[in-house]
Amino acid sequence: MMLYLQLVATPKATTTGALGCTSRGMTQMNKPIMKGKVYLMGAGPGDPDLLTVQAVRILRSAEVVLHDHLVASAILDLIPAWTQVRNVGKRCGCAGFSQEQIHSLLISAAREGHQVVRLKGGDPLLFGRVGEEMEALAQAGIDFEVIPGVTSAMGAAAAAKIPLTDRRFASKLVFMSHHSASHADTNWEGVISPDATHVVYMPGPNYAEIGAKLSAGGLDGRTPCLIVTHASQPEQQIRRTTLRELSREPSLPAPALLIVGEVARPLPPLQEDERTASRKTTEPHEEILHLTDAPTNSEIIV
Ligand code: SAH
Repeated sequence: MMLYLQLVATPKATTTGALGCTSRGMTQMNKPIMKGKVYLMGAGPGDPDLLTVQAVRILRSAEVVLHDHLVASAILDLIPAWTQVRNVGKRCGCAGFSQEQIHSLLISAAREGHQVVRLKGGDPLLFGRVGEEMEALAQAGIDFEVIPGVTSAMGAAAAAKIPLTDRRFASKLVFMSHHSASHADTNWEGVISPDATHVVYMPGPNYAEIGAKLSAGGLDGRTPCLIVTHASQPEQQIRRTTLRELSREPSLPAPALLIVGEVARPLPPLQEDERTASRKTTEPHEEILHLTDAPTNSEIIV
């Protein structure tokens, strides 16, 4: 496939390549001696500190990076200047790459002997097209590896301090998408439950539709809801509402997701005695725990 050869660009420069998207790269890439390999890598929700150590190590030595639109610029900044970088995401402001073109780019770059990173937002195995990419790579006999990432649901839950499976309220955690690849209405039948935490990826702007589907599935109108946009990024916003009020919420900029379930209730307010205690200007109190005071096994609550 010749698609890959057309991507070569100038060093440390941002240029427009033959396929119409900007890229950074190098003029002449030395012929690699290593066997080519593709890393299907998760970039996490956006904060570079949430990348795995393995991901950072591989990114720093990658020769070609094909990334999705969702990958935050702070993460792209970690890629060396000599690496060829391409935004192959659907919203890159250009005609875009078809899934087949992405397969061709991955395969031809690996066949040239390069270390290729296919960088996706969150975890690569969730709500991306990694299944199709793995099939194409396997059929072409290309060596590949999956590098996990922190999915945006976990980034959002951490940001909003939501105990996703708090045993008092939830026995299930459901990751669901509001939009399917075929743009057909997604079927949530059988997965909505009052004792589940529902995380809705790709909610789109129409929260009313989501609210109606969750209510039709049996959730009470008072069920707490959170909308989290740009989790872990400087633009992060968290809005708290209930299922009944969800339709009134202004739609937040993408990427956003919804967390719906009892676990999304606000944490209890500071208790009155703690409030007054914190106002008192007493001497700092130090409690000394002697080794002999350590709890016995039977007292330890896990
Ligand atoms: N593989 C990704 C999901 C890709 S689908 C993952 O594991 O997170 C794209 C959807 O992910 C977006 O529409 C949005 O719902 C969610 N998403 C991705 N990054 C996000 C972020 N930083 N904050 C909130 N939602 C995010």
